[in-house]
Amino acid sequence: MAEDTDILIVGAGAAGVAAAIEAEQSGANVKLIDQLPYLGGAARVSGGGCIAVGTQLQASMGIQDTVEQAVSDWLGCNGVDDEPWARYYLSRSLKEVYMWGEDRGVLWEKLKSPEEGNSVSRRHYPFNAGEGLMDSLIEGVKGRIKWMTETMCRGLIMDDGRVVGINTSNSSGEEEIRAKAVILTTGGFCSNLDLIQEYAPHLREYRIMEGSGEGSKGLGHVMLKEIDAIFPHLGEMCLYCYATPDYRDPTGKRGLVFRQIHENIWINAMGRRFHNEVEYGADKGTKAFMSQNPPKVWSILDERMARRAEVVDPYYREGGKVFAERVKELFDNSPHIIRAPTIEALAKKIEVPPDNLSETVRDYNSYFETQPAEDLEFGKPLEGLLPLTSPPFYAIHFLLLARKSLGGVGTNFHCQVMHKNQKPIPGLYAAGEIASIGGCHPGYLGHILGQCLLSGRMAGAWASNEAGYGEGFNL
Ligand SMILES: Cc1cc2nc3c(=O)[nH]c(=O)nc-3n(C[C@H](O)[C@H](O)[C@H](O)COP(=O)(O)OP(=O)(O)OC[C@H]3O[C@@H](n4cnc5c(N)ncnc54)[C@H](O)[C@@H]3O)c2cc1C
Repeated sequence: MAEDTDILIVGAGAAGVAAAIEAEQSGANVKLIDQLPYLGGAARVSGGGCIAVGTQLQASMGIQDTVEQAVSDWLGCNGVDDEPWARYYLSRSLKEVYMWGEDRGVLWEKLKSPEEGNSVSRRHYPFNAGEGLMDSLIEGVKGRIKWMTETMCRGLIMDDGRVVGINTSNSSGEEEIRAKAVILTTGGFCSNLDLIQEYAPHLREYRIMEGSGEGSKGLGHVMLKEIDAIFPHLGEMCLYCYATPDYRDPTGKRGLVFRQIHENIWINAMGRRFHNEVEYGADKGTKAFMSQNPPKVWSILDERMARRAEVVDPYYREGGKVFAERVKELFDNSPHIIRAPTIEALAKKIEVPPDNLSETVRDYNSYFETQPAEDLEFGKPLEGLLPLTSPPFYAIHFLLLARKSLGGVGTNFHCQVMHKNQKPIPGLYAAGEIASIGGCHPGYLGHILGQCLLSGRMAGAWASNEAGYGEGFNL
């Protein structure tokens, strides 16, 4: 049967759009489909932050960075030991992610302070966050490729061990689309609690909230399981612990992540602090949260701090624009955010020992009188922070939230999907959050979006090469 296109890409997020750009440039005909009504996937609602090394933005701020330093940071972080991929990505992050993005209109405008694991600042944020990033990239393929939104891929079509197309459905009905090569860029599974529990049984004792984009349901994973692909590190995820249930979500499964509340203190069920709250990241912060018994954690803030809070979710933020009145609405209405005129009254409402919480807050506030550089218990740097003195006081019930899948389907360095028989599955490629590059851990220095872009480009180039176009990704 004749093909409908050369390259068929399922999933129009960061990796899918990058794959489309690369495949189109090689001369192939490209079709891109997505189940959502818009292109951009989770990447579109993301902060857009990418790890890059040796950039002009770093130089303009006097930051010296090298690939060797970044590789060493990466390998020291979160138990990651996939050196070939770490080195591959980091040594290409300047030219093939940062400058490649600039060439397509992405304006890298902000460098944020180093997240845990990074010895220097290398988290680069584009103008207008993920929306700015994806709008610029999508602009480059408009009119040059075919795309179909609100079209769901339901399964892969196999012929004699080779993937030759997919089955789709949309409002016009069901359709088979045939291609010389298929690329799956369907993202992670962090918005599918059933899969989180199935793939990460070690987390079943915790209440986890769904926390990725609305399309990150792991549908590609399910299709690949059916054809016996391998899944290294499948249950590994980036979990945030500074999140609260989305009270507007009728399923009760979705969570919301806070930003700009680093002045808060975290307390456990005994009303005691247990951690340096500035180290809130997925490694140290989440581990400290999970080591509490019971794992019940509240964030305590006062009115001044609450007014500065931001929420990373499309209802509360569009691109770089924050809707402060909606954040206030959350503080006013969420049953998971408790308010009281005094710390003692707050303690009673959240059922922690009032004497303990009063003492905890008193001790914390006393640092602002004696002014040590760091708090004496957990070493939190205090410069620029405020004591908890401005009523009313708030307690946010913190829960774990799954943001990014870190493991996924095993692929080789051409992004071909690997079968359990250790051989690539002909005609099939995968990239982005669904994939574990090289069959190993995708690596994590706080961000994976840059890796999604680079692996998407690789998949687009190698799939095109298999289809008879271009030289592959030899950059
Ligand atoms: C609020 C938020 C903020 C984030 N901020 C950052 C950040 O600053 N830095 C960072 O590194 N990461 C961040 N992330 C994570 C990052 O956005 C993702 O890791 C990244 O977008 C993954 O890219 P991807 O191309 O693999 O998948 P996605 O961007 O998720 O795209 C996958 C696409 O596939 C589609 N799809 C899935 N299954 C099917 C199917 N069966 N049929 C048709 N279409 C399908 C989905 O609808 C989706 O559009 C953030 C995530 C969120 C939710």
